[in-house]
Amino acid sequence: MNAVIPISPDDLGGPFVTADAGYFEVLAVREQVVLVEFHSRPIEIRWFDDFELMYCQRQHDPETFKVIRKATEDERKLYRVPLWIQGEEVPECCGRPMFFVGQIDDDRICTEPPEGAKLWWHDGASFYIFTCSQCLECKSVGQQF
Ligand SMILES: [Zn+2]
Repeated sequence: MNAVIPISPDDLGGPFVTADAGYFEVLAVREQVVLVEFHSRPIEIRWFDDFELMYCQRQHDPETFKVIRKATEDERKLYRVPLWIQGEEVPECCGRPMFFVGQIDDDRICTEPPEGAKLWWHDGASFYIFTCSQCLECKSVGQQF
């Protein structure tokens, strides 16, 4: 896929810079919506940073998308893009990578350790839930700062 990036976010009609797949990773595609993270940006683009999740729309040529704006946290959840604390850690099942279902962050749940706990997750932990599209097994991965 190729990206068309407006030089200004206030002028989505252009001028634009184009970027090939060497600049970004596509993290979700659903109908006309594409969510991407850029590893690096063309020098003209200053209105977002590397590794920010960007909301994009497919163009008439389905291999091309236009960057519209920064994606919201709700969109990250809606399109099931994990926000990893450490590196990407996708478990496998039935010989293939499992599908990400969703993420639980410890600022949204009770973090008090159970009585007698020797170790417990502290600040800045996230739990990532996955399922297998072949056997419906579920697995979770925990990460912390
Ligand atoms: Zn499986």
